[in-house]
Amino acid sequence: MSRLTLPDLSIVIPLYNEEEVFHRLVERIDNVLVSLPFAAEVVLIDDGSRDQTATLIKNKCLGDERYQGILLSRNHGHQLALSAGLSNARGTKAIMVMDGDLQDPPELIHDFFNKHLEGFDVVYAIRKKRKENLLKRLAYWSYYRLQRSVSNFEIPIDSGDFGLMSRRVVDQLIAMPEQSRYLRGMRSWVGFKQTGVAYNRDTRVEGTSNYTFKQLMGLAFNGIFNFSEFPIKFITRLGIITILISLVYLAYNIYRKFFIGDVPLGFTALIMAIVLFSGVQLISIGIIGEYVVRIFFQVKNRPLFIVSEKIVDKKEEKPTP
Ligand code: UDP
Ligand code: MG
Repeated sequence: MSRLTLPDLSIVIPLYNEEEVFHRLVERIDNVLVSLPFAAEVVLIDDGSRDQTATLIKNKCLGDERYQGILLSRNHGHQLALSAGLSNARGTKAIMVMDGDLQDPPELIHDFFNKHLEGFDVVYAIRKKRKENLLKRLAYWSYYRLQRSVSNFEIPIDSGDFGLMSRRVVDQLIAMPEQSRYLRGMRSWVGFKQTGVAYNRDTRVEGTSNYTFKQLMGLAFNGIFNFSEFPIKFITRLGIITILISLVYLAYNIYRKFFIGDVPLGFTALIMAIVLFSGVQLISIGIIGEYVVRIFFQVKNRPLFIVSEKIVDKKEEKPTP
């Protein structure tokens, strides 16, 4: 591939402190590159690594024109490193995204690309089984199901960012200026034809997960709050339920006061004040939340819709004399 012709495909790989696995990664990718029947490039992003990753990237890219390296100024986190990669990917047909720790087998590109040729704009990998401990697996399992039940649209479960996107999907992602990015959700949001390919997720070959617990929680929260107003709606519903229950309880206390007479002085009024007003407060928070949610979705500046195709009868387009 010469510098002048653009590659058909880009492979985007964010790397953070991956010096131990780097050589094995590059070897696997090189093998995949020669097996491809079309021109492909590899975009390696160094996410402010503290080890030799940046140097390794630099050396590889200077000696191999199929590779380009993007070095970030500091650690920005996986999702932003990926975004940097997508912005710099030059693949004209499709862009594949994968992790650099070889948990995602790059050989899957053949399956992805075949699906792409069948007409799918997004092909994401679905993990058949995770080779992690039971607790972690349970946490992932319940998270993805919770997210699916509250999301405004369908985000496929048990799939991460690993997958392939067509050029037009990536262009849409790049055009979205939102700060807190949850790319797999944004990818679903873009739409077009999407499908999954099942695979076995390997364990990390070297080192431990670079995601800290805090980062993982942040990602999980983005996955829910960026795509759903369910939590706010839930507060409003809770408020309504509280008020209903409090009214029943109030009626019961008034009944006791007048017909049984075992209620101490002031108790009914006190109970009423507490339960009724906590309900009113919850509803008020919910109402404020409704406005905040609208502001939130507005400032995201996402396009209102994405057109897949325009069908017009060409004859009618001609100006009438
Ligand atoms: N990564 C990154 N920046 C970070 C954390 C991770 O670019 O701040 C990269 C990392 O090098 C790897 C990918 O993102 O290529 C996935 O990270 P990791 O394996 O730690 O996540 P996990 O597989 O545990 O979800
Ligand atoms: Mg990993």
